[in-house]
Amino acid sequence: MINHDNPLPATADVVVVGAGMSGLVTARALHRRGVDVLVLESAGRPGGRMLTETTALGSRVDLGGQWIGAGHHRFAALAAECGATVFPMRTPKRPAMLDGDRAISQVGPTALTALAVLAGWEIAARTGAPLGRDHTVADWVRRVPGARARRLLEVVVGIATTADTDRLSMGTFLDAVRFQGGLPTMLTTAGGAQDSLVAEGAGSLIEHLAAGLAGRVRYDSRVTALHRDDAGVTVFSAAGTVRAGRVVVTVPPPVAAAIEHEPPLPGSRIRLQDDTSMGSVYKAIAVYDRPFWRERAHAELLSTDTGAAVFDTSPPDGPGHLCLLVAGPDARALDALDPAARRALLLGPPAGRLGRGVLDPRDWHEKAWHRDEHAGGGYTAFPRPGYAPGLPFPAEPLGRLHWAGTETASAHAGYIEGAIEAGERAAREILAARG
Ligand SMILES: Cc1cc2nc3c(=O)[nH]c(=O)nc-3n(C[C@H](O)[C@H](O)[C@H](O)COP(=O)(O)OP(=O)(O)OC[C@H]3O[C@@H](n4cnc5c(N)ncnc54)[C@H](O)[C@@H]3O)c2cc1C
Repeated sequence: MINHDNPLPATADVVVVGAGMSGLVTARALHRRGVDVLVLESAGRPGGRMLTETTALGSRVDLGGQWIGAGHHRFAALAAECGATVFPMRTPKRPAMLDGDRAISQVGPTALTALAVLAGWEIAARTGAPLGRDHTVADWVRRVPGARARRLLEVVVGIATTADTDRLSMGTFLDAVRFQGGLPTMLTTAGGAQDSLVAEGAGSLIEHLAAGLAGRVRYDSRVTALHRDDAGVTVFSAAGTVRAGRVVVTVPPPVAAAIEHEPPLPGSRIRLQDDTSMGSVYKAIAVYDRPFWRERAHAELLSTDTGAAVFDTSPPDGPGHLCLLVAGPDARALDALDPAARRALLLGPPAGRLGRGVLDPRDWHEKAWHRDEHAGGGYTAFPRPGYAPGLPFPAEPLGRLHWAGTETASAHAGYIEGAIEAGERAAREILAARG
């Protein structure tokens, strides 16, 4: 909507499309070098796939990206710069697996079958075995003996990627596993991709970046069209039109497909936008006076009933936080329930192991990312079966048009670390082009 009291400037050296982590990092790097930069964001807030809320007990919880993975040094450095408190995850030797409220034995046929299949995929990822772009993960899971083992594998792949197993080719899944350093890295907490947390919320880093760019980030300003010519780019948005020297699109390709281009984008980029899709993911945080379950058991577990992965994300000396992630079709099935029914359903299985008190949190925060029109889903974008652009997604500039966003990062694409890396790279590209 055009704000007549505060119209967009007519011109900017650089317009950044999207105020997620990648866009804010790009804008900050350019602003620090004296570039006149403007960030246009379609939502009414910054952060994109990162979002922190404050609980009734005063603690902060992340409904989007939160974990700092091992080796995510840019994310860790930004947290340190913001004066944030980083704390390690409490991690059991192995997460529990629940069927209903019964534990699945770690040495029984279900767990051993699933583990053998995962080990086979890990080897295939490392050796580059050609398991196929046209066969989906679901096709492979169908061949696994035992309904419970098949269900366990679906849940594990879902939590690792948020993609539906029948919309994810085996080749793409193995590319992702290889690219992210292996399944153990993707799935483990301590030492893996879920190594540590920011007590103030990962979103506090977004608040810090956005505050440093005050006045240069404009919300409710969805970019609808980009018209390129030799001298610059005309940016059409819901808040008005800006003429820019260069533009950086930080929006993930399937969401960026809604932006019209003149002249049209090359066929390869149109295909990247049309033949990729965002995962479906629901996340909730249940808040308790204290993490009382620790006297009884570790809270890290998987429920084959609901498809939820549960983590103990309680901050040190703070209230108890149980984080629940549900992915793929299980996440979309939750949309049909009201919040109270969703909460009861999801907290049922962990309550059997952690204590009945789990059923009665003091506060409850939840978000279905596949229903967020701005983010389009999460964690990240994946190619549809039959299409293999490779990882990371291409980011070769197109004249005065540049690309960032986590999907374009050369390492840790899909993660916050990747969003930061891609933002820094796009800013360097522009500074180099400006001479
Ligand atoms: C539930 C969930 C859990 C996750 N957990 C983790 C985790 O623990 N650790 C981790 O490292 N990563 C995690 N991730 C991934 C991480 O959040 C993302 O990789 C990262 O936030 C992506 O940042 P980005 O800036 O590249 O993209 P986005 O955050 O998607 O930013 C793009 C921005 O563009 C805006 N936009 C869209 N269309 C337009 C338009 N036409 N005009 C203007 N603006 C537009 C969007 O609103 C958005 O703000 C998680 C993601 C989700 C959803």
